[in-house]
This record gives sequence, structure tokens and C-alpha cells, in this order.
Amino acid sequence: MNPPERLNPVNAPTPSSTQAEEQACVAFQSRMAERIASGDDLQTDPHLAGCPRCQTLLAELETIAQAARMLLPTEEEPDDALWQKIEQAISNERL
Ligand SMILES: [Zn+2]
Repeated sequence: MNPPERLNPVNAPTPSSTQAEEQACVAFQSRMAERIASGDDLQTDPHLAGCPRCQTLLAELETIAQAARMLLPTEEEPDDALWQKIEQAISNERL
């Protein structure tokens, strides 16, 4: 039996540009909750402007964040643990 000769990644379905985009998304999303928590305006982020996936994720995150704020005392910032829970809830949804 001859070994298969299809070792060339000619038909590889992942062009490098897509990988770079995904890395940009991962980087953006990993800081998303943190930046919202610090009052940063993510709507002006250049990555977000060109990325429907992150726009959708941000919209979901803001909905959750608003709900979370309603559960908190008005003059208290959400702590880091809460934001981590929110991030976990979102990433679990994505799986
Ligand atoms: Zn993105």
C-alpha cells in the first residue's frame, strides 16, 4: 500500500487573512468587558466598525451588562468577578 500523496495543503480551507481576523476578534473580545467596565467607548473601535461578529457580541454583552447594573446598588461599580462571570456566560453560549 502506498502512502497517500496528498500532503500538500493546497485545499486547506483557512486562508491566512481569516486567521488574522479571528485573532483580532479574540484580542478584541478578550478585552471587551474590561473596556466597557472602564467606561471606554467601544463603538469607536476600528475593529468593531468592520466586524459584524464583534458588533453582535458587543450588543449581547451590553444587554447583559445593563441587566447586571439593574441588580447592583446604583453607586457601585461592578467588580471584576462580575465581569468575569458575564464573560464566561457569553463564551459558554458560544460553545
Ligand atoms: Zn471581530
